[in-house]
Amino acid sequence: MATPLTRIRRSPALHAAVSGIGYFLCAALSLRLSRFDGGIAIIWLAGAFLTANLLAAPRRYWRFVIMASVPGAFAAGALFGMGGTAGLLLPATALLEGIAVAFALRRVYPRFGRLESLREVAAFLGLAGFVIPALGGLVSGWAAHRTMGLAPFHAWHDWYAGHALGFIAFTPALLFLLKGRFCQQLEQAGKRSRAECAGLLGAVALASVAAFGQSEVPLVLLPFVPMLAATFRLGPAGAALSVTILMVTGLVFTLLGTGPTMLLHASPALRLQVLQIYFASTVLILLPVAAELRARHRLFDRLRSSEALHRLILDRASDLVLRVSADGFVRYASLSCTPLLGIEPSELIGRSLLDIVHGADRPAVVAARTQALGSPEETITVEFRISRPDGSLSWVESHIRAALGEGGRVMGTVSVVREITKRRQKVAELKRQAETDTLTGLANRRALSRALDRHASEKSPAAPGYLAMFDLDHFKAINDRYGHAAGDAVLVTFAEILRSAVRQDDVVARLGGEEFVVLLKDATAPMAEAICQRIRSRFAEAALKAVTGQTIEATVSAGIARLGDGAASSDVLALADAALYRAKANGRNQLQFAA
Ligand code: GH3
Ligand code: MG
Ligand code: MG
Repeated sequence: MATPLTRIRRSPALHAAVSGIGYFLCAALSLRLSRFDGGIAIIWLAGAFLTANLLAAPRRYWRFVIMASVPGAFAAGALFGMGGTAGLLLPATALLEGIAVAFALRRVYPRFGRLESLREVAAFLGLAGFVIPALGGLVSGWAAHRTMGLAPFHAWHDWYAGHALGFIAFTPALLFLLKGRFCQQLEQAGKRSRAECAGLLGAVALASVAAFGQSEVPLVLLPFVPMLAATFRLGPAGAALSVTILMVTGLVFTLLGTGPTMLLHASPALRLQVLQIYFASTVLILLPVAAELRARHRLFDRLRSSEALHRLILDRASDLVLRVSADGFVRYASLSCTPLLGIEPSELIGRSLLDIVHGADRPAVVAARTQALGSPEETITVEFRISRPDGSLSWVESHIRAALGEGGRVMGTVSVVREITKRRQKVAELKRQAETDTLTGLANRRALSRALDRHASEKSPAAPGYLAMFDLDHFKAINDRYGHAAGDAVLVTFAEILRSAVRQDDVVARLGGEEFVVLLKDATAPMAEAICQRIRSRFAEAALKAVTGQTIEATVSAGIARLGDGAASSDVLALADAALYRAKANGRNQLQFAA
């Protein structure tokens, strides 16, 4: 439905007519009602009307609006203003001033019109409340001085005060009105909001009447209460409307001779200045407050929608996301808490993080958190076990970062926790495979050399221990005679004999082929000899059956070397090998100690 306002805006002719008449009325009203002793209007309404009209209109309409305002300006000047040259110069200056404010605002703040940010309000107050009326005052002050003989500074000052006040007090409300924002806001509001709006603005009107409708008590601060409430509840529109209501009420009563200014024992000129400063103060308080509040509302809205987005992502993530306070209490846990920990997020929130960490891993988690809190730019990774209410354990990996608050203050930590039990099992399995001989399941050469290195690094063992190297005798012949599979079975049997002959923690390895090594830690020479003899004789006596049913005769020889004394593991192996060589040379199926 086309409102009267949109109908006017759509037709350039109608728009021009309304602009011209509007300007004339505003100028006439200001000149007729707010001029005292033939001076300059104390509140110039026409500038605000022209500026708001231009800012509300598309740029292509500006020339119509300006052209239409010219006759209105001069007609009002001629009828109610000063005659002569001043009657031409002053309306022309006022007209240019209104155009300049609109033009400068568009240049400085291209999207000007909502007064919803401090920058926008500052641009408005700076240009419309300071720079442009001050410049306009220079021209008109000079003109008034030359043509009417007014004191130049007084003329400048009166012009500046009246015009700046007119701009800052009425432009916002007129702009909102002409842009249809009031109507839009009312349309969007529900019944309750409309009633609240009417109540608040009604309270502003009542407080204004209470302050200005009597000359007994100075209640000038009273209107601030409902005005601030309207600003908080209705935003910039509420601020602009409150200011308009207060000023119209205040001016009407002051012109009728009542109000708090009557209580001042001062000249009428000074009273007017006090009134102007009072009105300007309300604008300077309310507009920035409204803009800042709106900016905060926008920030809250953005935060709320980004929070909703984060929650959605976090709740769909399979990793558990935790926010933990600096003193270690869980503040937030994502939905993955349930599958990972076996408890609802609400059961975890408020509890200590360490409650879910396996006792043995708590120091590592505390250390990782301390490091994260101490270096906020770093992400710390820690692996630990979590313990569930049902007693089960799982390995997890957690990436921890400090969460920073205002001014870079460390508020706590945020962490992503991922189950890695399977990964750890896989790594352990790969490691085991890399160190195991596939045929016999014994340690392989790599595992043996690690075990030798470990043994060498151990400090002062009770006894240095011995290394025995075994090599099956004439194994090639066994392979040749009974087949490779039978050979493998012989190797497996020998491996079992080896394992069963030594202690659980003695390392038994297959070096390759039919060569084996046993590390006899803490063993003395007689002990080593006894163990190796047992192995040799058990193997010799083992009843090894070939597939054909024949009994395989197999023996083994061994070379034994002492560990320790700081000898490198390769040297010990070489010594054992040399002893083994002697055992072979001596007829096999026997042991030899290294020299
Ligand atoms: P000696 O008494 O001097 O040790 O004689 P030998 O025949 O045991 O020694 P040699 O080193 O000549 O032969 C080792 C044989 O072991 C050669 C190879 O075919 C066999 N062999 C190596 N690895 C395997 C295996 O994994 N399985 C089977 N069945 N045989 C293997
Ligand atoms: Mg060999
Ligand atoms: Mg051999």
